[in-house]
Amino acid sequence: MENKLLKYLGCNKRYVINLVSKLIEIPTVNPPGENYEKMAAFLESECRKLKLVTRKYITPKSVLDKHRVNGGSKRVNLVADLNTGCKKILHINSHYDVVPATDNWKTDPFKAIVKGGRVYGRGSEDMKGNIASVLFALKALKDCGMKPKINIQLSFTPDEEIGGKTGLGYLVEKMLVKADYAMSEGYSGNYVSVGNKGVLWAEVEVIGKSAHGSMPYKGVNSFERMNMLVNELERLKNKILKRKTRHNMRDAISKNPSFVMGGLLEGGVKVNIVPGITKFSIDRRLIPEENISAAKKEIEAVIGKFNARYKDSKVNIRFVSQENPAISKKDSAFFKIVSRAVEITTGKYANFSVMPGATDMRYFMREGIPSIGYSASGGEKWHSDNEFVYISSLVNTAKVYALIMSNLS
Ligand SMILES: [Zn+2]
Repeated sequence: MENKLLKYLGCNKRYVINLVSKLIEIPTVNPPGENYEKMAAFLESECRKLKLVTRKYITPKSVLDKHRVNGGSKRVNLVADLNTGCKKILHINSHYDVVPATDNWKTDPFKAIVKGGRVYGRGSEDMKGNIASVLFALKALKDCGMKPKINIQLSFTPDEEIGGKTGLGYLVEKMLVKADYAMSEGYSGNYVSVGNKGVLWAEVEVIGKSAHGSMPYKGVNSFERMNMLVNELERLKNKILKRKTRHNMRDAISKNPSFVMGGLLEGGVKVNIVPGITKFSIDRRLIPEENISAAKKEIEAVIGKFNARYKDSKVNIRFVSQENPAISKKDSAFFKIVSRAVEITTGKYANFSVMPGATDMRYFMREGIPSIGYSASGGEKWHSDNEFVYISSLVNTAKVYALIMSNLS
């Protein structure tokens, strides 16, 4: 039975190539979030062809306001169920929004180009290819007459590219979706993601006093103060970078936390004015063993000491974004089935790893639901020019999904 399924997926790639192409050609660019309604309607019709029962949820304005999301389409969340009458639910989420494209593309980013075993287009890898693979897996089960031993619930959500709180985050919080096991965006091939690092973003403002450039003694140079503060923070950074997670990570270099200063930098206004205010950002990534409140305290302690030492300047810090690290609950039966599906498809042992970057998977992980990230891939050129997805990955990802769908109960 499994062989029939795998053979079907190997022989019918046309379906997945056509589908991803159609998805690419609905430009769901975010920000501001365009064509969401068109995309949800298209996906709904595809799901109905596969005999799924669909429902839509529009994220209410109050939620959009809370997360400062404005402009663009209505935020449409599509949920599609394959009810098999079984007890448990496997939930598979994909986001359908894409980041904007620059003018540097060699081809039109919103016209799918099939060439050399790849499909090019904005969103091909992140993550419309995966949407196509998931539906391909379900089509294979249907056409091969196989009924899963678990209910399958799909969700197609917007706004992952701006944090997901107004997409999957909303569905999970309002309990509009259900999952005993969950899957969403993540690694591919023989790598499976089981968690992600935490994120803490801050804006630091150093206030000195402006003065005429010819009489600097009348002012306090905020740029020079910032430089001194940055040196202090470097010391903290070196301490932080010595930490190492005990969790498995695909790239050994990612086993440490990270601390990046100056991604945003804003300062003086004129060559002959002593700068009065200088601002810079901090992007701190946390390993699973760390937490946001401790990470904040470490930075605040450095700033507190600095302010105590230099009374003629003032440093303020504002944390603009914060997310604790996320790790999936272990579930050996689920992980074993995933392992086997990956092994059959790729011929390699599955490697369960924590990812450096966060995906919408964390909304399920936080609820204590065994969750993994697995999706179709290209050259890992997410968000960059000439993004593509490998056709072989579209097919193999569908195989992995189909094997999991047919074995999990
Ligand atoms: Zn994505």
